[in-house]
Amino acid sequence: MQTTAIILLFVFISWFYWQGRRKRVKKTIFPESFRTILEEKVIFYKSLSEPSRLAFENRMTRFLDTVRITGVHTIVEEEDKVFVAASAIIPIFAFENWEYINLNEVLLYPNSFSEEFELKDGKEHPVLGMVGNGPMQQVMILSQPALRQGFINQTDKNNTAIHEFVHLIDKTDGSVDGIPENLLSKQYLLPWINMMHQMLKEIPEGNATGINPYGATSQGEFFAVISEYFFKRPDLLKYDHPELYELLEKIFRRDFNQSISR
Ligand SMILES: [Zn+2]
Repeated sequence: MQTTAIILLFVFISWFYWQGRRKRVKKTIFPESFRTILEEKVIFYKSLSEPSRLAFENRMTRFLDTVRITGVHTIVEEEDKVFVAASAIIPIFAFENWEYINLNEVLLYPNSFSEEFELKDGKEHPVLGMVGNGPMQQVMILSQPALRQGFINQTDKNNTAIHEFVHLIDKTDGSVDGIPENLLSKQYLLPWINMMHQMLKEIPEGNATGINPYGATSQGEFFAVISEYFFKRPDLLKYDHPELYELLEKIFRRDFNQSISR
């Protein structure tokens, strides 16, 4: 009799534990409202096939489960969450196992800020996005209006959030030097370094049509600036700089022509 009671108790505890565990591993459902925002405002998502769209949504969900998005003197809207997560996934979409191990939190500021993360002191603040260092390690800061403009304006070549995520990707090998060693296959290493050197010379000479001059500041900035351009206006970049475009396709393993014509 006592044995039966013990067995029953054991079965009950196991069932209880299993139910609890089942709840914990239940998948977060991707909200329909997120999908609407993606369909309306994220060109990259629109260029994907149906199964790839689903994979993109799953990657976004995983990202949002692990990285906090916090508004500093501003409210984080649904649109902001979608834009941050989409910017994170776009550059590494071809790398299925990529996780942002160097990021815990994204802070959204209501405006641009200073290099010291200051908002209000009456001065002009030129910074729209930043990847933290030192005590701010694991944190990214974005200007909320710049984040939104990156997707709402569909004709320019700027996307602040993609720019910052590309810096983070670049940083995973230890240095923000424009050489993303964790993405780049060895055979493209030298062609890519040569291309960067050439562009860093051509931009200040005014021979690099349409490329933001900020890209000439350093190799790291060049890589971030040109990646914004690549993911936002691939057609235009291909037309103006076909060789550069081709190398970026190799780095990010992304063939826009194929995805668009599918
Ligand atoms: Zn930068």
